[in-house]
Amino acid sequence: MADQLDVPLLTAWLGRAAAAIEAQQGYLSDLDAAIGDGDHGANLARGFKAVMAKLGTSADPAALFRTVGMTLIGTVGGASGPLYGTLFVEMAKAAAGRATLDAAGWHAALAAGVAGVVARGKAAPGDKTMIDALTPAVAALEAAASLPEALASSAAAAREGAEATAPLVARKGRASYLGERAIGHVDPGATSSAMLLAALAEAAG
Ligand code: ADP
Ligand code: MG
Repeated sequence: MADQLDVPLLTAWLGRAAAAIEAQQGYLSDLDAAIGDGDHGANLARGFKAVMAKLGTSADPAALFRTVGMTLIGTVGGASGPLYGTLFVEMAKAAAGRATLDAAGWHAALAAGVAGVVARGKAAPGDKTMIDALTPAVAALEAAASLPEALASSAAAAREGAEATAPLVARKGRASYLGERAIGHVDPGATSSAMLLAALAEAAG
């Protein structure tokens, strides 16, 4: 049970995340095929494979987040590449100068990352995007708790947020072209966001 996120733990997180994305690649692309163009799993698998090749020794969490963000921007493509890249680049800025992140430090970093995604993609909660998983994940970190508890409730909130996208009409991204035909399908980006946060909770728990 970790009470701080340091570079080794964050590296372990990204390894778990990459493995989960690889294993769920077909599922994520199937979700995207239903309401988009069917590439979300392949996009992210390519990006996280590149991240794994780049993860050597980062000096601190900020350097690690920056490497991840720039690699995702350069390799994922689609709408989600720049958005996930922005998430990590903004987390890097918020984590600057810290050797480790405690629960408050992770909350500040994730909040800054999600604010960056909102600034870039202009999605609001309820628009059927990754924001529907990420926003409740940040909110769940506000309750004071140990780091593993905070991460577990954040991951659960992300999963619930992703599942709750099913009945929504999409207002951003390719799925927005479908109008009411998007109803009944969960959003792929919200699903992958929940997977990333589940991997973090597992790495820290
Ligand atoms: P593309 O739609 O270009 O094929 P992906 O399939 O990789 O890209 O990613 C699609 C996901 O990106 C969607 O499921 C949604 O969660 C997310 N997304 C799309 N547009 C936005 C946006 N403006 N803001 C936040 N997330 C978005
Ligand atoms: Mg797609």
